[in-house]
Amino acid sequence: MAKVLGYQVATNTTIYKETDMQEIERMFDYLSDLGVDGHTITPGYDYDAAKRDMTKRLNLRPEDFFLTRAMTVQKFQKIENWMNQYTFFGTPVYFEFLAGKRDLTCSAWAIPTRNIRGWKAPCYLMTDGHFSTYAELLEQTDWDRYGVVNSVARDSRCENCMVHCGYEPTATLGLQAQRGDTWKTIKFNFGAKPRAAGRGSEVLAYNGVSSGNGHLTGKRAEPAVKAS
Ligand code: SF4
Repeated sequence: MAKVLGYQVATNTTIYKETDMQEIERMFDYLSDLGVDGHTITPGYDYDAAKRDMTKRLNLRPEDFFLTRAMTVQKFQKIENWMNQYTFFGTPVYFEFLAGKRDLTCSAWAIPTRNIRGWKAPCYLMTDGHFSTYAELLEQTDWDRYGVVNSVARDSRCENCMVHCGYEPTATLGLQAQRGDTWKTIKFNFGAKPRAAGRGSEVLAYNGVSSGNGHLTGKRAEPAVKAS
């Protein structure tokens, strides 16, 4: 409907431990044939607030749902193939990082979060303080305390994080650039886009109303109906 109304439409997908990557590939087939303009994708790791919420409110074990770094690399093994099959919004350098092909460090200051309390430090996922201006956030946050450098977590809460708001700007800004990155990124973002998959009609998609409980309850959607 959004496409019919003329909007640019993008989807965002978070991958969890339980996520079946074959199913994600079928979803991208389906979405690409619907004419969706592009996708972002990111690993779901056990960030502080989510972990606490899952333990206290839902009485569930975070380790059953969230990805470690090793699991993320394993889940994203096909991402480089997908880059040629589907239109992703992002940078090939970040996707190489997710696939374990190269290392990046976090630059959370480049995609900050601002909420009603102010500019959140250090990032969207962790809250160690708020500042009234972006300049204060930049100047008063000890950025050297955060992120993972050479496989060592400078803060234990960062240990499994590979999320795009922390690492994508490192790729985008070329902070750890390697030869060929700029051309690769320009080609990826401005070159010809992959064609529609042509396999979407084979996908059994649930097109009814969601229970709203998401993956946390372990509930399954009603039996799938064939997409028309
Ligand atoms: S690695 Fe960066 S983005 Fe991830 S939780 Fe730590 S500070 Fe935030």
